[in-house]
Amino acid sequence: MSRIPLIAGNWKMYKTGPQAVETARELARLCSDVQGVEVMIAPTFLSLPLVAASVKGTCIKTGAQNLYFEKQGAFTGEISADMIKAAGAQYVIIGHSERRQYFAETDAFVCRKIKAAVEVGLKPILCVGETEGQRDEEKTFSILDKQVSDGLKGFGRDELKDLVIAYEPVWAIGTGKTAGIEQVHEVHQYLRSLLETLFSRDFADQTRLLYGGSVKPENAKELMGIKDVDGALVGGASLDANQFINIIRYNI
Ligand code: PEP
Repeated sequence: MSRIPLIAGNWKMYKTGPQAVETARELARLCSDVQGVEVMIAPTFLSLPLVAASVKGTCIKTGAQNLYFEKQGAFTGEISADMIKAAGAQYVIIGHSERRQYFAETDAFVCRKIKAAVEVGLKPILCVGETEGQRDEEKTFSILDKQVSDGLKGFGRDELKDLVIAYEPVWAIGTGKTAGIEQVHEVHQYLRSLLETLFSRDFADQTRLLYGGSVKPENAKELMGIKDVDGALVGGASLDANQFINIIRYNI
């Protein structure tokens, strides 16, 4: 089963609309001859429609960094899956550790968000990962098991055909620390077998598993070469088009 690698950029709360459009256009120019890799950028909600319009017809896809699971209503400050779709996005990041940590997102919440995404045809990128304390206490696999099992509770495998899972050890996000090759390999292997147990062998084989956590041009090739790693979710190093392109071109 061949899985096309996905290199996704999470722009977090950086860049105004014009700044985001400028970077997106520059990236589209640099990516114009890239083949065999899917590229996605996730700007802020405010920049999303502008960025989506500016990369339309290029090889760059867009995504949101979050959504709210209700369709519409009195939910001040929230954005629905329909609104994201209408803005031109194809993907949505769900359950990022910063949302779990600062906005108290639970696995049950994450599950409802994934449901809302798939209902409108947005491809969900479910983020999972352990904190440093959990790793030290040897709870990594039980934490991942819970995040994946509860996050995907109640779904049939057909509903999740576009699911992407990003393994992002919390201690490696924005810290400059990267998980070791063996650590990444054993987690990705574990996630693949967990998907097989929860759904099916085919489902596990087709689902892309990204690594995230201080991915840089210098370590991208090594990380992307690990078995069962099908791409990267990149924060800091995706903000600069010249840096991000060197991650996208990890294979060269
Ligand atoms: C992220 O925010 O998902 C991330 C992996 O950030 P960074 O690449 O900066 O560690």
